[in-house]
Amino acid sequence: MKINEGEIVKREFISDDNEETNNKLIALLKAVPVRDLIMNALRAREHAYCPYSKFAVGAALLTKDNKVFLGSNIENASYGVTNCAERTAFYKALSDGYNNFRAIAIIGGPEGKDIKDFAFPCGTCRQVMMEFCSPEDFVVIVAKSESVYKVYALKELLPEGFGPSNLNKK
Ligand SMILES: [Zn+2]
Repeated sequence: MKINEGEIVKREFISDDNEETNNKLIALLKAVPVRDLIMNALRAREHAYCPYSKFAVGAALLTKDNKVFLGSNIENASYGVTNCAERTAFYKALSDGYNNFRAIAIIGGPEGKDIKDFAFPCGTCRQVMMEFCSPEDFVVIVAKSESVYKVYALKELLPEGFGPSNLNKK
């Protein structure tokens, strides 16, 4: 499924508001079936286990060979054990042997209600993305619906992030 440039809603740039980043994202998005990915994230959201926060999140992670892994948030009576939707999707993919990622779509909000706001990935999930994805090329889609969403390069959501490349320098 192709995406038209006109479908990209207004982005909110955080750290790197320049035309180069915007153009690069538009180019990267050509390889991302955005609506399909958001639909998959919505589907995953139905399986959220969130009896404590009652905030249900779904994520759909797209690999570079176009496989999609779904994740939902899975809470626990021992709150700290809770796992976010984004990390659920990553760990499913990684444990199946997939470690090249193109994009993730995330959608979340109060369980059983219409989604009114964007649900951005938490700091822990951003750091997990940093471990396995290129900060320049990995696309994060934060959606309210199939047609209302924002797109970011990972580096915009985790500016000056610390990742594997910081340890591999010679
Ligand atoms: Zn998280």
